[in-house]
Amino acid sequence: MWVAATKQKPLYAPEESIPDIPFNFNGYGAAGNVRGSLVYAHYGSEKDFAFLANAGVNVSGTIVLARYGQSFRANIAQRAEEQGALGLLLFSDPADYAPVGPDFVYPHSYFMPPSAAPLGTTKLVDGDPLTPFYPATESAFRIPEEEASIPKIPVQPISYSDAFDLLSEMSGAAAPETWQGDLNMTYRLGPGFREADWTVNLEVNNQNIMTTTYNVIGVLQGREEPDRYVMLGNHLDAWLLGAVDPSSGTAAMLELSRVFLQLHNETGWRPRRSLVFCGWGAEEYGLVGSVEWTEQFAKQLSDRAVAYLNVDMAIEGNYTLRTKSVPILTEAVYESAKRIPNPNPEEVEAGRTTVYDTWAHRRPDPVQPNLPLMQLVGTGSDYKGLQHNIGVPCMDTRYTHDNNTLGDPLYHTVYETFALVDEIYDRGFKYHSAVTALWGDLAIKLAESKYREFFADAVVNFNKAVTLFDKVLNGLDQNNPLAVRQVNDQLMLVERSFIDPQGLPGRSDYNHVITAPSKNNAYGGTAFAGLVDTLTEIEEASENDKKSLWRTFAQHLAAVTHFINTAAKVLSDDL
Ligand code: GLU
Ligand code: CA
Ligand code: ZN
Ligand code: ZN
Repeated sequence: MWVAATKQKPLYAPEESIPDIPFNFNGYGAAGNVRGSLVYAHYGSEKDFAFLANAGVNVSGTIVLARYGQSFRANIAQRAEEQGALGLLLFSDPADYAPVGPDFVYPHSYFMPPSAAPLGTTKLVDGDPLTPFYPATESAFRIPEEEASIPKIPVQPISYSDAFDLLSEMSGAAAPETWQGDLNMTYRLGPGFREADWTVNLEVNNQNIMTTTYNVIGVLQGREEPDRYVMLGNHLDAWLLGAVDPSSGTAAMLELSRVFLQLHNETGWRPRRSLVFCGWGAEEYGLVGSVEWTEQFAKQLSDRAVAYLNVDMAIEGNYTLRTKSVPILTEAVYESAKRIPNPNPEEVEAGRTTVYDTWAHRRPDPVQPNLPLMQLVGTGSDYKGLQHNIGVPCMDTRYTHDNNTLGDPLYHTVYETFALVDEIYDRGFKYHSAVTALWGDLAIKLAESKYREFFADAVVNFNKAVTLFDKVLNGLDQNNPLAVRQVNDQLMLVERSFIDPQGLPGRSDYNHVITAPSKNNAYGGTAFAGLVDTLTEIEEASENDKKSLWRTFAQHLAAVTHFINTAAKVLSDDL
């Protein structure tokens, strides 16, 4: 059987049919021509592959068909490769992406039509793959492509109408109830087809080429502390038309920089600290622009960057704000969200007059239900290097859907058009305005306030140090610039204290000992990943391997303890 990669069908907006629209592909999927029987692997999670193994379905030497929607696609590709699959096909099931049925899809709604196929990178290690840990400047040393951390197997996105053609011919045991999707048939595990001599031939002709990408950095220099940076960032590249990802965020960034510049031109105003506006290149190919820039300026940023505020998509829905942040910034984000008028008139009528109110109402924290949910920072956008390698406090915000896992169903498809944004998501661009205002409010607060009193509340774990630090803040002579700088620097060092130059066990590209992306889904953040992951490994290890893993655990635990102690200590003047 032949799987033909198609272009996505033009359905509504004229730009969907411009000749530049490429055939569907996944970034960094290996070129290759493979043939094998087909296995259906649900979402391609670790649990799903374990289920297949238990059910006696050997994935090795087959072509895997897995669903988008529960983990970062690069994690799926990595697992398929580890299982010995020859190739990977990815599709988006209507159960997840068009749950209201075939009549309620783009352009009648934001749900996914049968011909859609999202593109996207399949590289797990972020940054330029040829220059790990060092900047990709002209003089850089480049490793050979064979050594780069990119998939060795072909990976290809297909539409759910193509997936239907494949799935409906499959043989093997029926997949469990929870694995069934909304395509009208019984999904089977495989391997293979009802016609015993049928196989899938997957041919991927991707070419990895070297090209130049650009970051655009704009600075509004601070009047009193020009060497302290409050950074705002958004990426500039898109897979296809990109009206949601990233152009909704780019619009917000352009508007903010316009407003700040106008303020400066008309009144001479400058913020106390510098505002740095970052337009990143090649985010979609694995955060290339931002990671390389962070590698290049690591020392200066480590000494001087106060915070980094990322907006990738400003909106991917209009249901509620969705924010990821480190604890030290949470309070500041809440404060800003309380100041932004609610863009949803029905919510205002219900008495929820601010962005914060709807966020707290529609997405409460399960542990503290009177607060809105603040998620941990994983990866998947341009804060990776700053947060996880340098320890600059980062946050990422957007308006999102009621379904928190999927976001925009048309993400990375050709149907991410201006019409989608203008006619379906945000008539009047009110949600865009709200996110822009929130972003600006937060940036001003961090760039303008004399000392960052709101930081201190968040450092709940360091009670004693915080009590003493509070005393210092209360007695602070605000007219003494050195004293002000001193307490601010101490606060800046708290997040830096969590950076372990050795990296996490087995993950040398992650240095923050408190938070790291989940090993199974890089989009999600986890706490104490080094400890948790090592414990999981111990559980699964043979008796022989357990001993050395316990040693790793003990060593890392000691490191974590050391860095937490350091974080408390940097709040005082003493060594
Ligand atoms: N934001 C892009 C994506 O989700 C890139 C993420 C990454 O490479 O970490 O596909
Ligand atoms: Ca590099
Ligand atoms: Zn993006
Ligand atoms: Zn994207």
